[in-house]
Amino acid sequence: MTSKTNIGIIICDRYRRCAGGKCLRSMKKREGAFSIYAEAEIELVGYTTCDGCPGGNIEYAGEEMVKNGAQVIHLATGMIVGYPPCPYIETFKSFLKHRYGVDVVVGTHPIPEKYLEMHTLLGTWDDASWKPLLDPTMTDETIRKAYN
Ligand code: SF4
Repeated sequence: MTSKTNIGIIICDRYRRCAGGKCLRSMKKREGAFSIYAEAEIELVGYTTCDGCPGGNIEYAGEEMVKNGAQVIHLATGMIVGYPPCPYIETFKSFLKHRYGVDVVVGTHPIPEKYLEMHTLLGTWDDASWKPLLDPTMTDETIRKAYN
């Protein structure tokens, strides 16, 4: 990507009190899912929650973000690492893509090491279908520990 990319972030409502610290830090440092932008300029044009299960705000937030110029919507890492992970990730992804023609990336900040340890213990991510969802934010141990 060479020119500026406008992005929106939708977080899991379980973390609605989150001030966005990890997402904003990783956005600035181009870590986790934001590494795809490398040195390219990005601008955050929307940030909100799904409004709770089963994610009623995905429809409205997606529309507003795209109207505000979003080219990519990131589904925050909290959707993957929550206990349990969000069961609607694939639905959100497919809906946003087909309804608004926007690119969707699963993940924002690197997966914190403590979540990797717990989900490994629980076997949450054992199924191979998790791999493409985890890859953008798995990073390495040093970075994961920095996001604990
Ligand atoms: S688990 Fe999914 S639908 Fe439920 S609050 Fe979190 S992101 Fe929203």
